[in-house]
Amino acid sequence: MKKQCMSTRNPALQADFCEALRQGIAADGGLYIFNDWEQRQVDLSALSSTYQKLAEVILSRLIDDIPLSTLQHCIQQAYDGRFRTPDVVRVSPLENNALLELYHGPTCAFKDIALALLPELMRQAGPSNTHGKTLILTATSGDTGKAALEGFKNQPGIEILVFYPDQRISEVQQRQMVTTDGQNTHVCAVRGNFDDAQSAVKHCFADPRLNTLLHRQNLFLSSANSINLGRLLPQTVYYFYAYQQLVKNSRIRLGETVDFAVPTGNFGDILAGYYAKRMGLPIHKLIVCSNENDVLTRFFETGIYDRRPPLKKTISPSMDILVSSNLERLLAHLQPDRTETLCQWMKQLKEQGWYQIDELLLRQLQQQFAWGRCSDEQARQEIRRIYETSSRLIDPHTAVASYVCRLVQKNHPSDRPCIILSTASCFKFSRDVSEALYGPQALDEWTLMKQLSERTGIPIDPPLQQLQQLPIRHCDLIEKEDITDYILKKEGITV
Ligand SMILES: *Cc1c(COP(=O)(O)O)cnc(C)c1O
Repeated sequence: MKKQCMSTRNPALQADFCEALRQGIAADGGLYIFNDWEQRQVDLSALSSTYQKLAEVILSRLIDDIPLSTLQHCIQQAYDGRFRTPDVVRVSPLENNALLELYHGPTCAFKDIALALLPELMRQAGPSNTHGKTLILTATSGDTGKAALEGFKNQPGIEILVFYPDQRISEVQQRQMVTTDGQNTHVCAVRGNFDDAQSAVKHCFADPRLNTLLHRQNLFLSSANSINLGRLLPQTVYYFYAYQQLVKNSRIRLGETVDFAVPTGNFGDILAGYYAKRMGLPIHKLIVCSNENDVLTRFFETGIYDRRPPLKKTISPSMDILVSSNLERLLAHLQPDRTETLCQWMKQLKEQGWYQIDELLLRQLQQQFAWGRCSDEQARQEIRRIYETSSRLIDPHTAVASYVCRLVQKNHPSDRPCIILSTASCFKFSRDVSEALYGPQALDEWTLMKQLSERTGIPIDPPLQQLQQLPIRHCDLIEKEDITDYILKKEGITV
């Protein structure tokens, strides 16, 4: 069978999907992508409407080396009874647009949808070596960590280590992670921001000494971050699902286009939308929504990617990112024959902190995407506005998307609906949501959560209700330079 994946940095470095899944990142530091979208078209009129059936159809178009019956089993294991909505996600009207609620999973953020399925797929792909064990390394800006821990907890043959930036995530996000039980889970804070944690983890994958030492113990590294293709593919499903719901509710006719507004950090979620578009979903624009760390918005405006301005701490911490890994994938898709140029840009980004794409590519990007930024104050106003007009609570990440969506619609009025991705439960960010509605209060996070629920009559998501009472099991804190030593120590390897 032809290998379906190749590295963004070298088309000759190929892998089938299961290999890509196991490795996480390609050996040359590139990311795995597909190059044959023509063969992955989906017939919209023939799609079934339950989420799981839809997932079977979409994922079997994308994954060549896992048989359909196995895929069906994986999807069942991932989604049966683990989400609080019958169809995994839910679409609800919001003003003239729609909200795609992606936070009804075990950890109350959209990352559950991919991370419930990833362990099942990885089990099918098997370890890199038949006696081996997989060690998942994950850097998190807040939500990936807990979703990955819940997904991989107590899975045989797998151990998971999560690194989060110390004091850069919400109190609820942190508490969710440090209270995780399970035989095979480790959680550790890293001094610095998310980019520090992410680059330290990426460095581990490329570190030959570390990998050799681990291989001697039959341990093989993999990643649960969106650098892993297996994280992105499950996310394409909900783009199709949302579209279908709008057809079903007669908001659009089959074949009409929609926009999607996506709160963006590592560019993973929105790239899944781009994949849906490449598979034939009628998307007019994908809207890149940034918080005050607007490196992507500036890139789409000017063609210059510049990560040198310092990272700001915002009320949407899961988007506090300067190096959006998956942008590399988009650039590779748009110019498949210019791998060398892409490699140069990535090298320059690493060494000098910026690069500039050419005019032609920029125009191509600007045709398919729209973009905008939203400050913390604008996000708070948006939370308040939506509550006042619709009696709904949105979290600060969703508020960024909702605000930017309105901005784009104001500048380009049309009847086309926009589907706003709602990526987390508002109760994960109770302090900021509560401040948006009632102003700052000197109360602890847990009191604010209860008060917010009581005042609005909106129930707290069950997984967050008991969180405060759970025992704390993980309290390590390291410098980013010490990550390799930390991993070796955790694995009982002395050198
Ligand atoms: C991770 C995350 C995002 C950003 O998604 P990317 O795939 O990194 O672009 C947005 N909102 C929330 C709540 C998140 O957890």
